[in-house]
Amino acid sequence: MVQESKKTMIAFSEEYILQLPEKHPFPIQKYKLIPEKLLEDNVIKLDNFFAPQKIDLSIVELTHSKDYINRLINLELSYQEIRKIGFPLSKELIDRELIITQGTLDCCFFAMKNDISFNIAGGTHHAYRDSGSGFCILNDIAVATNYLLKNSYVQKVLIVDLDVHQGNGNAKIFEHNENVFTFSMHGEKNFPLKKEVSNLDIPLPDKTSDKIYLELLKENLPKIINDFKPDFIFYISGVDILEGDKFGRISVSKEGCQLRDRYVFETAKKYNLPVTVVMGGGYSKDINQIVDAHCNTYKVAKSIFQ
Ligand SMILES: [Zn+2]
Repeated sequence: MVQESKKTMIAFSEEYILQLPEKHPFPIQKYKLIPEKLLEDNVIKLDNFFAPQKIDLSIVELTHSKDYINRLINLELSYQEIRKIGFPLSKELIDRELIITQGTLDCCFFAMKNDISFNIAGGTHHAYRDSGSGFCILNDIAVATNYLLKNSYVQKVLIVDLDVHQGNGNAKIFEHNENVFTFSMHGEKNFPLKKEVSNLDIPLPDKTSDKIYLELLKENLPKIINDFKPDFIFYISGVDILEGDKFGRISVSKEGCQLRDRYVFETAKKYNLPVTVVMGGGYSKDINQIVDAHCNTYKVAKSIFQ
């Protein structure tokens, strides 16, 4: 019998790349540069990509309120709500968000089949049920998680959020859901100012280095898996933990960041857990550094899963 070869699937759509006003702090070009570099460096092939469609609103409604969704779609959010999100609101931006969210959901099914999948976007962990914030409009992981749980595709979901910012949206959305475990390691002085309570929060002091960071990760991740026994993992692989990041306040090196990714992937593999990776943030001054750091996550995954 010929074994079906496993292939990592990567969500990417041209619509992930949007024109933002000049000097906008969000490095949206990375969504164009990352797939280009992955292809150029021969990490993946063109047929690893798929282009997601816009998600059905009935799926979004399992997580976000109808009122928020309607006002969002009709471009009726208030000035304050838009300011909190941080993007100039437009139809294209909303469409982009709906496509990214479907990308994360599609990725889950690919991960269940092929062990791992990536969305070249996503990890919009600051979005709440009724509001967006911090460059996040819809919470892609929450939307995918609620859909998978409701339809019994999975029973217990672990969200490993290693972006430098706390996963406040997921913490709040799932605070009373015992089938979801939210784990967040983040800069204690980073946005958001008011943190929510995750199942496990590890706040890190300014300038936290590789050694402390990796020790804490290795101490806690296997313990969570052994106690909670998830059957699916989301991994937010933000690279804003890097030293020199414009927003991040901790000081992990590029090598440390790769060791972080390696540890998460090796652990997922060891426990035979499918993992969907979403990108999260990265705000180094040099866009090439951001792109390199994100591409390293794919390279590390390839070295483990192939
Ligand atoms: Zn972040």
